[in-house]
Amino acid sequence: MLQIDQLSYWEKTTYFDGFDAVIIGAGIVGLSTAIAIKKRHPNWRILILEKGYLPSGASTKNAGFACFGSPSELFDDLKNNSENQVWETFNLRYEGLKTLFQLIDPQKIDYLPCGSYDLIKLNEEEINLDFINYLNSESKKITHKNNTFLIENNPGEKFGFNGIKCAYFNSLEGSLHTGKLIEQLHQKAIQLGITILFGIECQGYESSELGLLLALNIGEMKADRLIICSNGFASQLIDEDVVPARAQVLITKPIANLQLESTFHMDKGYYYFRTINNRILLGGGRNTDITGETTTAIETTENIQAVLKTLLKEVILPNQSFEIDYAWSGIMGIGASKQPIIKKISPNVYAGVRMGGMGVAIGAAVGQQLSELID
Ligand SMILES: Cc1cc2nc3c(=O)[nH]c(=O)nc-3n(C[C@H](O)[C@H](O)[C@H](O)COP(=O)(O)OP(=O)(O)OC[C@H]3O[C@@H](n4cnc5c(N)ncnc54)[C@H](O)[C@@H]3O)c2cc1C
Repeated sequence: MLQIDQLSYWEKTTYFDGFDAVIIGAGIVGLSTAIAIKKRHPNWRILILEKGYLPSGASTKNAGFACFGSPSELFDDLKNNSENQVWETFNLRYEGLKTLFQLIDPQKIDYLPCGSYDLIKLNEEEINLDFINYLNSESKKITHKNNTFLIENNPGEKFGFNGIKCAYFNSLEGSLHTGKLIEQLHQKAIQLGITILFGIECQGYESSELGLLLALNIGEMKADRLIICSNGFASQLIDEDVVPARAQVLITKPIANLQLESTFHMDKGYYYFRTINNRILLGGGRNTDITGETTTAIETTENIQAVLKTLLKEVILPNQSFEIDYAWSGIMGIGASKQPIIKKISPNVYAGVRMGGMGVAIGAAVGQQLSELID
């Protein structure tokens, strides 16, 4: 590949010189951060560097759930995190969606406020009514809405599922088109005059009195500020608690008479499914092989895909035949805490990483908060 020191004067000065901020990663967070910075500093020159020919982490791979916590996931989160942290994250998800919809028209990304069902299997412990009441009163402090969470007693009969005894409905959740979301953010960034270059990897950086020097796969460039939005790949550049977590999904071929106009979660959020153009998109199962799925390798594996197919066959579509059309994976960034890292790392270096399984909801708010830290 052509190196920076082989470029023409025009190329070098247009694409690699004089940027006020260089952002690493063109996912939801990188794009949202660039847009938020440009709005605060209209005269700044902003460059986004993306290592893939498309964004190559999670933002073009995800399931498109605009979600902020199923009851069984929140129940589990409250066991492992403080109450404050759990509701702060819920708030970030709620505010994040509002921020996203101020940036882009929900209709342009096929947003459907269809709600979600958290399905409880026959052998699983039910969540008691007191806990649902608690969720409703705490979530109301954030959303000002009554009865966000409701008990649905007969989801098996309603949707034709097998082995499901009850469900909890969350009226605030919804679904959207993942590809259209990233395309809209991309177009918004371009309209604002942000430069985006694909196929360029940042392999490291050095700070000196002369400024920041970025080591790229095509040579070196200087930057006034570096903003790391590389999520699951962040440990390549910074020493923070972020580890890669691969997530796999599959999509069936179109199925006749599919009547599942909602989004669904199971097993504390470890499985999720929805419809898209008469197909079922199903993801999850990384809890069955945590070690194997702690990787940045964008591949699918037979064992996880088999777990997903079994779930489809035995629980979701027990009375229907189906064929798999697509299967893929993406890389999330997770850590001991579920909260994202939004911080100044060192002078002129910032990071917005560790989005877990909720970047669709929180990404725009993270970009906004990160932009406010940058001086
Ligand atoms: C299968 C799957 C399903 C999911 N489902 C949902 C869901 O339904 N709802 C939800 O809210 N969340 C979901 N998520 C999580 C969500 O997609 C992420 O939280 C979100 O996309 C993170 O956005 P990001 O911009 O931080 O990271 P990313 O989208 O991963 O962006 C980081 C970018 O940085 C680039 N990069 C990395 N290192 C470098 C480098 N050194 N130089 C240059 N570029 C670099 C990567 O190629 C990548 O494009 C899912 C994730 C997966 C994988």
